[in-house]
Amino acid sequence: MGAPGSGKTTLSRNLAARASVLVIETGNLLRAEAKRGTALSDEIKSYQSAGNLVPSAVVQRVICAELDRAKGDLVLFDGFPRNMPQTDLLTGILQSHKLDLTTIFIFEITLETVLNRLGGRRVCPHCGAIYHIASNPPSRAGRCDKCGTELVQRQDDSPEVIKRRFENYNRETMPVIEHFEQQHAAQCVRISVEGSPDAVLKSVREILKI
Ligand code: AMP
Repeated sequence: MGAPGSGKTTLSRNLAARASVLVIETGNLLRAEAKRGTALSDEIKSYQSAGNLVPSAVVQRVICAELDRAKGDLVLFDGFPRNMPQTDLLTGILQSHKLDLTTIFIFEITLETVLNRLGGRRVCPHCGAIYHIASNPPSRAGRCDKCGTELVQRQDDSPEVIKRRFENYNRETMPVIEHFEQQHAAQCVRISVEGSPDAVLKSVREILKI
C-alpha cells in the first residue's frame, strides 16, 4: 500500500528479479487490457486517463486472469486493494486461490518526494521499463535501455491528474490502511520509502526473509 509514485511497482519488479514472486501489477494489467482493444478497453481508458479508480469488477477480472495464468507460491499485490469494497474482493480472491495474507507493506513518503518522482517519471510504452529523468535516467536520453523505444510520460502523470489520484488515494485508500492496521495489525509493516530503491528492496527482503 502506498501513495501514487511511492515506488510500489519499482519495488515489486526489483523483488521479482531476485526471488520467486508472482507480482500482480494492477495498474499495468489494466493498462495492458486497455491497449488490447477488448470490450473493456474504452471503459478502462476513461477511468485511468482521468486518474479515477477503475470499477472493481473489472479489476477483479484482470487479477484473477493473471493469478490463473501464472501460479506462484508467493504473490505480491501491487496497487490492490485500493478501496474498501476491494478489501472484501481480496478476501474472496485469497480464499478462491488458497492464499494466506502474510504481510501488508505500508509505504511512508512525503508528498513533496512523490510529486518530484511522478513529475520526472518516464516509461517505455513497449516494455514497461520505468525511468526518472534525474535519479534513474536512461543511458541515451529519451530512449529505453532495454528495447530502444522512445520513452513517454504516463498520461496520468500530468499535474492535474496527479492531484486527482492523490485525492482518490486519501479518500479511498487511506481507510483501507486504517482497516488493515486495526484488523490485521500483526501483518502490517510500515516502512519509509524516501531512500533509494535498493534500500527499500533490502528492507523488504529482510522482512520477508527471501
Ligand atoms: P498505478 O499504475 O498503480 O499508478 O495505477 C494507475 C491507474 O490504474 C489508477 O489511477 C487507476 O485508474 C487504475 N488502478 C490501478 N489499480 C487499481 C485498483 N486496485 N482499483 C481500481 N483502479 C485501479
